[in-house]
Amino acid sequence: MRIADVHNDIDHELVSKERIDEKIREVAAQASDDYRDKNPLLIAVLKGAVNTIAAFSQAMSIPVQLDFMSLSSYGSGTVSSGEVTIRQDLSTDVRGRHVLIVEDIIDSGRTLAWLVDELKRRGTASVEIFALLEKPSRREVDVDVKYHGYEIPDEFVVGFGLDYDERYRNLDSIAVLKPAVYQGDNA
Ligand code: 5GP
Ligand code: MG
Ligand code: MG
Repeated sequence: MRIADVHNDIDHELVSKERIDEKIREVAAQASDDYRDKNPLLIAVLKGAVNTIAAFSQAMSIPVQLDFMSLSSYGSGTVSSGEVTIRQDLSTDVRGRHVLIVEDIIDSGRTLAWLVDELKRRGTASVEIFALLEKPSRREVDVDVKYHGYEIPDEFVVGFGLDYDERYRNLDSIAVLKPAVYQGDNA
């Protein structure tokens, strides 16, 4: 789905499909070099990071394994609850593994800080992070991001996996919704 298909709901596009692809290709090339002899395990948190991990892993030039985890930290609204619980766990034993977490977006950083701690508790050999998007002005918790994508302003975004109330995940770029969508009068 493209911006034009939902133009009534979209205020403006923030990151185009082309810029997403370009950044992912660039970071994937770097990570492929860094992980060449490490049999890396790429982990994404469902559902927002699905598009990113799919595009990123395809752009890598070495074999990787993938796994997924479902966490709850956001409800259907736009504000973090700050609380993290596991809804669905990994199917991989991460002990001794070199893990690369592939994230859609870092807002407060709470979810990711929790996940890094949890993976380290499980005995990983290393844990690094690729974040496609970061909102630096919103950061509350310190997390060490190895591979950076784009910094964005403090606006709630949708697309390329990111949702508002489970909608717009299949938009192929990243965009800001019109305020009316949140107010529910723009159906
Ligand atoms: P954090 O714990 O860093 O505050 O946020 C964790 C999760 O909240 C992100 O991985 C993402 O799923 C969701 N999130 C944060 N900011 C946004 C945003 O602007 N748009 C959407 N759709 N989700 C967001
Ligand atoms: Mg996420
Ligand atoms: Mg969401």
